[in-house]
Amino acid sequence: MDLAERTKTLTPSATLAITAKAKELKAQGVDVIGLGAGEPDFNTPDHIIEAAYHALLEGKTKYTATGGLEELKQAIIDKLLKDQGLKYDSSEIIVTNGAKHALYTLFQALLNDGDEVIIPAPYWVSYTEQVKLAGGVPVIIETNETTEFKMTASQLKAAITKKTKAIIINSPSNPTGMCYSESELLELGNICLQHNLLIVSDEIYEKLVYDGQKHISIAQLSERLKQQTVIINGLSKAYSMTGWRIGYAVGNKELIKQMTSIASHSTSNPTTHSQYGAIAALNGPQDVVEKMRIHFEKRLEKFHEALVNIPGITCIKPKGAFYLFPNVKEAATLCGYHTVDEFATALLTEAHVAVVPGTGFGAPDCIRVSYATSEAELIEAANRIKKFVEEKM
Ligand code: PLP
Repeated sequence: MDLAERTKTLTPSATLAITAKAKELKAQGVDVIGLGAGEPDFNTPDHIIEAAYHALLEGKTKYTATGGLEELKQAIIDKLLKDQGLKYDSSEIIVTNGAKHALYTLFQALLNDGDEVIIPAPYWVSYTEQVKLAGGVPVIIETNETTEFKMTASQLKAAITKKTKAIIINSPSNPTGMCYSESELLELGNICLQHNLLIVSDEIYEKLVYDGQKHISIAQLSERLKQQTVIINGLSKAYSMTGWRIGYAVGNKELIKQMTSIASHSTSNPTTHSQYGAIAALNGPQDVVEKMRIHFEKRLEKFHEALVNIPGITCIKPKGAFYLFPNVKEAATLCGYHTVDEFATALLTEAHVAVVPGTGFGAPDCIRVSYATSEAELIEAANRIKKFVEEKM
């Protein structure tokens, strides 16, 4: 079949591939511990489910406006004011089918062929592919543990060309769990202002920040930075609503209008009853979010400690999200593997622990492990990895 050129360079999602492999083994009766998941393991809180259920019973089963219900946009406006002190108008918001779709329509609306988008590595797997699908060119900035996997101002300056149109900041980050500080954001933001680069600020993990820290959005640091930023966010991670598919983008009115136009010809509105659930989530009690956050923080403490006790594994302690991103290159070498990818495959097939190789995130010496699973499973997983490494050494 003669398929479109633009699909030929696409890389299938590494996260989904490992999850599929793990499921296959589980179906064969193998006791696999899955650390590949990119979603919280908690149920969606009851009051959110009830709101969607009542909406369905009340006949709210039809199309809504493409960009989302006004009531939901108002809930997002209230949230941004309460959490970040940011004031937006409903014309500056689009509700989408998940944050992933917000990013997809954003790049479709923004990029001409050959436009460059700066993406610091390690990065979430979909950024590069979505930029390519829109005809853009991902420009990768390599980072490592010495800067906590964060790009520096000088790296950003060096990566800018005449074709650079945007940069992506994902704080807290998937896969590293790192967060930019206020001063780091200001420094990066000022460079973006000087070069008129759109800042795409993916804040989907904003509610999952640890160690007494508070999430900072680059948009809240000055009025000029607010004008220069599109915030991407959604309900998936904070409210354990991954399957509901509700995300949103907030920013420049003209851009949002074009994104809405694209959505009107591709997906139409996000699922109607999911939007009612999202209104309940944003307007309802927020202690449900905090309870989940506390669970994640406890797991992080235990799992991090267990992992860094394994020979050949080093791991800086994340500050947010629900992933650890250990460097396992030395462990892989000690066990006789040439690459971390091979090591990760052996962990799955021999130790029965599913982890995601860092290659797909642009960091081939690392693996991503999610702690969105029970404490008992996490400890068992760490024990299995330790035993595996010690036996192979
Ligand atoms: N951004 C990041 C960094 C993510 O990790 C994810 C999901 O894994 C998304 C965006 C998309 O989330 P959703 O489409 O479920 O809202």
